[in-house]
Amino acid sequence: MKQTILSGIRPTGKLHLGHLVGALANWVKLQEEYRCFFMAADWHALMGEYEDPSLMPGNIIDNVADWLSAGIDPSKSSVFIQSRVGQHLDLNMILSCLVPLGWLERCPTYKEQLREVNTRDLNTYGFLGYPVLQAADILLYKADKVPVGEDQLPHLELTREIARRFNSLYGCAVFPEPGALLTDSPRLPGLDGRKMSKSYGNAVYLSDDDAAVSAKVSSMVTDPARVRRSDKGHPEVCSVFSYYSVFWPEKALETADSCRNASIGCTECKKMLAAKLGVILSPLREKRTELLNRSGYIEDVLKEGAAKASAVAAATLEETRRAMKI
Ligand code: SF4
Repeated sequence: MKQTILSGIRPTGKLHLGHLVGALANWVKLQEEYRCFFMAADWHALMGEYEDPSLMPGNIIDNVADWLSAGIDPSKSSVFIQSRVGQHLDLNMILSCLVPLGWLERCPTYKEQLREVNTRDLNTYGFLGYPVLQAADILLYKADKVPVGEDQLPHLELTREIARRFNSLYGCAVFPEPGALLTDSPRLPGLDGRKMSKSYGNAVYLSDDDAAVSAKVSSMVTDPARVRRSDKGHPEVCSVFSYYSVFWPEKALETADSCRNASIGCTECKKMLAAKLGVILSPLREKRTELLNRSGYIEDVLKEGAAKASAVAAATLEETRRAMKI
């Protein structure tokens, strides 16, 4: 029997290149080896977007079109909307009762987000409980592995602690402790050199057409010390070059040399990169348009995915209740 994986993306906006290299490319590989559950994490999105969640349904369809275009195969993986599998909230409720408040308050990402996000008020009951819902998501499918980056390890450790606490309280072994599948996804800076994010307005979206990609790439920050065309560059500090490393590794060495000896200018370097990104993105865009034009197709994929996920989730919840004698 294949090991199980659970992963998700919050449908808070269009997906960008960072999602492609950070999550989707990895998911496509994982689905060959694991039993995968991929969810549009709308309850998690709601915790941040509760003031106006009206765009969320559209974002879900849009995002899932990108997932499928990038190669997620619904015949291999269960693709579903978190809120359409009711057991996520049932298990969240059960686990909430047994998680000490201190475990949540000391969570590093919770403190960091409260400090750094100033566009909305995250000082809510729901947001504090984010890691409990995350634990419920993972434990509901008894996931063996969760693909995470280093920064998410504390959350996964919390899930393991919650699993241990449940099993020990009720003298059972309902929940296995999930392991981390550390992903070595490359860090992709945004156009301005900061982390690529919709909120910073510095992202290249998977749905951008060639003209938009070109315009965005031409606005990218480069080596600040390279002021004139004749100045020798330092590719290691240039965002454009980091895209070469990720999307065009076979051209990276040559480009780095040309930059260092000033035989290539930034304008030409960016034009070549934009053309390469166009080659990578155009089949995804075509596939995406085709899927969105197939009336009801994505909704059907999500319904089928929710049915497969619900069958597993219902069995785990039943086992959970039996262990608790409720
Ligand atoms: S030539 Fe390319 S790698 Fe070098 S600084 Fe300009 S954009 Fe960056």
